[in-house]
Amino acid sequence: MEEKPTRRRVVLVPVPAQGHITPMMQLAKILHSKGFSITIAQTKFNYFNPSDDFTDFQFVTIPESLPESDFDDLRPILFLLKLNKECQMSFKDCLGHLLVQQGNEISCVIYDEFMYFAGDAAKEFKLPNVIFSTTNATTFVCRSVFEKLYANNVLAPLKDSKGQQDELVPEYHPLRYKDFPVSCWATLESILELYRNTVDERAASAVIINTASCLESSSISWLKQQLEIPVYPIGPLHMVDSTPTSLLEENKSCIEWLNKQKVNSVIYISLGSLALMEVNEVMETASGLDSSNQHFLWVIRPGSIRDSEWIECLPEEFLKMVSRRGYVVKWAPQKEVLAHPAVGGFWSHCGWNSTLESLGEGVPMICRPFSTDQKVNARYLECVWKVGIQVEGELDRGVVERAVKRLMVDEEGEEMRERAFSLKEKLIASVRSGGSSHKSLEEFVHFLRTL
Ligand code: UDP
Repeated sequence: MEEKPTRRRVVLVPVPAQGHITPMMQLAKILHSKGFSITIAQTKFNYFNPSDDFTDFQFVTIPESLPESDFDDLRPILFLLKLNKECQMSFKDCLGHLLVQQGNEISCVIYDEFMYFAGDAAKEFKLPNVIFSTTNATTFVCRSVFEKLYANNVLAPLKDSKGQQDELVPEYHPLRYKDFPVSCWATLESILELYRNTVDERAASAVIINTASCLESSSISWLKQQLEIPVYPIGPLHMVDSTPTSLLEENKSCIEWLNKQKVNSVIYISLGSLALMEVNEVMETASGLDSSNQHFLWVIRPGSIRDSEWIECLPEEFLKMVSRRGYVVKWAPQKEVLAHPAVGGFWSHCGWNSTLESLGEGVPMICRPFSTDQKVNARYLECVWKVGIQVEGELDRGVVERAVKRLMVDEEGEEMRERAFSLKEKLIASVRSGGSSHKSLEEFVHFLRTL
């Protein structure tokens, strides 16, 4: 199809959370480098303050008046449902103004899969709209089949607190019921409502996914067959663009500390931007790390220990345990940390960005997922890519010590490191010229130019 030279502005709408803002900004940077003008439409909530790296972008605010406390009170699923209702009208107005301002320059709206109000508004203005999945393809598949499985009562065991949770979901190998992307903070009905809205892909022009075919070929094939629109797996985007996008200030002193450690001797611990730990879990983790005799770099994000600002609620013993072989920061330059030769393992909540960043550096993982897609990622890390050890059930010091030693000391860990290294090579090849993600990105850019 012939490329049209005029409409070159793309409006991008990220979910206001670190793990969604980062890949959206990476995508925006890549599209900008291909000649597109960029408008980022974001909420007041968790506003991303653009640095000098983004001077060529236009930033607009979608008016909404959600109190900051709503996020903590509602947690992700219910918050997203409310945010979508709140932004429905205001984004329509916002897009209307942009169309008046920019004339026919706007070619498309690309929105995070969970900001579906943006897709609705684009349709009203008859603008092409593209869903950007910042989670993985397998989770996308689960969301697509959720309604059917729910209606057929296949997901009934999810309501069961013990019973069948360990069994495989029929036809969704290797996922067990407990790996299905649901959340402990919302009912199945609320999750169903959110998923029903996010996977209304029939009305979209295309889907792009931050994944690579060497990671999830069967899920990607399934989506390509089932969805009636083009599907482009274009990730991992952080391997294509590395512009900093942190909402919190990174403490770079940990790199100096890592410089003093031996190769593959440090385990890095971080639970991303949303997960919460109980005080007793933090203490058990500290104690297990201490008795493992391994060095560790631990990100304890402010607000990540329940009912506490930071670590002030912890007994004195905590500091004694971590000061022997550990280093604690509030927020780290994670990609730099994972690329550091001293880091030999990553204890993670398995958010999709953290998973991709770890795989992209060939670092094997200890998986401690909390919610939704993290559980799918953890299962894949352990059973499909075989570069992770999943820690399940109650967290006690013995469990922590054993998992850390398996990954950092035992031969089993060394084998995982080798597999992680070969996966890293595959990922590098996939984003290079001729690689599958590179080709997909080129095809997507061509698709955008023909709109
Ligand atoms: N991150 C970081 N420094 C930290 C912890 C996390 O820069 O100390 C970044 C990390 O590199 C990743 C993002 O925060 O890009 C977290 O996203 P992820 O999808 O892993 O988890 P979420 O925060 O969405 O649960």
